[in-house]
Amino acid sequence: MGKDVAIIGGGVAGLEAANQLATLGYNVTVFERNAQPGGHAAKWDRLFPNQRHSHEVIDSLKSHLNGNPAIMLSTAISTISRNGQKFKLDAKGRAFEADAILIATGFELFPAERKEEYGYGIYENVITSAELEEMFAKNGKPTMKSGETPKKIAFIHCVGSRDEKVNKPYCSKVCCVTAVKQAIEVKDSIPNAEVFNLYMDLRMFGPGYEDLYKEAQQKGVTFIRGRLSEASELDEGRLLIKTEDTLSSCPLKMSVDMVVLMVGMSPAIGTSELIAGLGLHPNKDGFVDIADQHLYPTNTTAEGVFVAGACVGPNNITDSVNAARSAAIEIHQYLSKK
Ligand SMILES: Cc1cc2nc3c(=O)[nH]c(=O)nc-3n(C[C@H](O)[C@H](O)[C@H](O)COP(=O)(O)OP(=O)(O)OC[C@H]3O[C@@H](n4cnc5c(N)ncnc54)[C@H](O)[C@@H]3O)c2cc1C
Ligand code: SF4
Repeated sequence: MGKDVAIIGGGVAGLEAANQLATLGYNVTVFERNAQPGGHAAKWDRLFPNQRHSHEVIDSLKSHLNGNPAIMLSTAISTISRNGQKFKLDAKGRAFEADAILIATGFELFPAERKEEYGYGIYENVITSAELEEMFAKNGKPTMKSGETPKKIAFIHCVGSRDEKVNKPYCSKVCCVTAVKQAIEVKDSIPNAEVFNLYMDLRMFGPGYEDLYKEAQQKGVTFIRGRLSEASELDEGRLLIKTEDTLSSCPLKMSVDMVVLMVGMSPAIGTSELIAGLGLHPNKDGFVDIADQHLYPTNTTAEGVFVAGACVGPNNITDSVNAARSAAIEIHQYLSKK
């Protein structure tokens, strides 16, 4: 068909859309600022809801990158502008042209050091959920900075989500199920470990998520309804955490070996500047605004510019893949009419 589609972002959303559009006969180029494709999902170890290794999913998506679709790695798109009937993209001092654009720039992890009272970056055994994924991938279990195996671990939900103080009022959707999945993995890898999940509400919305919650309870994970007020360091890297059990209204102090902060999904850095060149604006939470919540979830209000994946808000891999396929159809319809 000879028409060119540029995809910004080579995470699961960008890769899936690229595969679909190349199959439809378009010339597709994915621009990825990292040296490797796969986005965040490439960093996870085992995925909820079924403990599948993430590399199986990423390898499958990558296997179609054979020239069309093509991928340009270590290539961050800095500006996009309209150029007559086409779009002009700038990266590394070079200009590229396209007939349609897919924004698939994903998300950033909430920077946990912004919740200073939780001690991330100050106390060595306060880590993030993303760092725990790395530990599972590397050692198959969490490890304290000293090299010892932790015996008591607390997972803190809603870090950088549902929190007006850090201007993140929205729910990040995937951190409850990630926390439950990781709690189960801790129990499986260190059977005598004590594991506590401190939550505000448990949002187990997806297929199989509630089953994971039941499994965690059966394996002895303790769920406490309460928000962490602060963490401080005790001897030998142990931590004291303070909260209130909001079901019993009792203040609670607990010493643990490791605290895992379930960091939320924040808008990708640079995306709002990128879309500004196309006359688009972020929504109130900072993610890319879509044309119609129900009927056109992968369209923007700019003609020829489409979106997929977590750049429009927190989501899981299934949602990203579905959105990518939907965006591919929308792009096909748009280019067929041109
Ligand atoms: C701790 C954690 C664990 C999770 N575990 C699971 C799980 O087990 N199962 C599950 O279903 N979901 C899980 N998720 C959700 C999953 O990670 C997301 O749904 C998925 O990563 C979204 O894919 P994406 O392609 O939209 O975004 P991303 O993965 O963020 O990919 C976007 C890509 O765009 C690139 N990019 C951004 N800006 C530019 C630019 N200007 N130029 C070029 N490239 C750019 C980025 O480098 C990145 O590679 C988890 C999320 C978190 C936070
Ligand atoms: S999914 Fe759970 S942990 Fe994440 S923001 Fe929503 S309620 Fe909080």
